[in-house]
Amino acid sequence: RRERELAAKDQPAVTTDGHAVQVVANIGGADDAAQSVTMGGEGVGLLRSEFVFLGRTTAPTEAEQADVYAACAKALRPGDPLVIRTLDVGGDKPLAYVPIPVEENPFLGIRGVRVGLEQPELLRTQLRAILAAAEAGAELHIMFPMIATIADWRAAKAIYDEVAEDHPTSAHVSVGIMMEVPSVAVMAEQFAAEDGCDFFSVGTNDLTSYTLAMDRGHPKLASQVDPCNPAVLKLIGDAAEALHRHGKWLGICGGVASDVQAVPILLGLGVDELSCSIPAIPAVKAAVRAVSIAHCREIAARAVTCATPEDVRALVPATED
Ligand code: PEP
Ligand code: MG
Repeated sequence: RRERELAAKDQPAVTTDGHAVQVVANIGGADDAAQSVTMGGEGVGLLRSEFVFLGRTTAPTEAEQADVYAACAKALRPGDPLVIRTLDVGGDKPLAYVPIPVEENPFLGIRGVRVGLEQPELLRTQLRAILAAAEAGAELHIMFPMIATIADWRAAKAIYDEVAEDHPTSAHVSVGIMMEVPSVAVMAEQFAAEDGCDFFSVGTNDLTSYTLAMDRGHPKLASQVDPCNPAVLKLIGDAAEALHRHGKWLGICGGVASDVQAVPILLGLGVDELSCSIPAIPAVKAAVRAVSIAHCREIAARAVTCATPEDVRALVPATED
């Protein structure tokens, strides 16, 4: 089966009844971007920009960052999207030169965009670097991690607007947020109505953890942290409906986007883009081509009424060959 998937890796991901889904990659840098293209990736749905910041003793400068972002864009095919997530540290990802106080509950503390709001110069420098890279002509999208409230979004967007004023290329850059805190999914309608909030991408890893109040790395609990939990699927499906009413798109960049068993359910819930690990791209594209959107919608409608993740997974038999 792997051979067949690889042979078709460059064909678009379109269901048997003509519904197209964008299959893109999660990457950490330019080498990954180049590799994603060779695996049939149609762009990048998540550049985890923290990789530019990790393993150093000082923060990367604006020029250093711009070089990395431009190199990622250049490694893609012209016109393919590149979604750059702003620095997502704190919680499980500490940084020596970004003073984040030791907290009793780091996963409920200063992490993700909250770090950038506490230290706006860090965020400003990064946004300037991304906009400088946009001058290379790439289709750039900026995404803020760990947004929880409308106030978070407005504060981050205000910093972006300030920086964008000086950059003519910003007209071609779209701005969106990660949906990885349940409040954003529940309030998708209000977030979608916000000016300049162009798109959303579900971080199912954190969304599942925060929905179930279980650490995905916990030795005893990790096996229950399943993004196919009906609670998580219902959040995604309801959010997709609300966003589409406002003409906004919804991607998935958490690990479940690489799970071929979940692909029909995610399509049926209304997801527009799947951002997966590079090796998973050919199989995810094949999984899209194997189903009809009509069938996916039926399965998704049943999935959100299931009692357990096991019941959900039983709706989609694992593929054999
Ligand atoms: C997620 O939470 O699903 C996600 C994509 O972000 P990260 O795994 O980098 O926290
Ligand atoms: Mg996350």
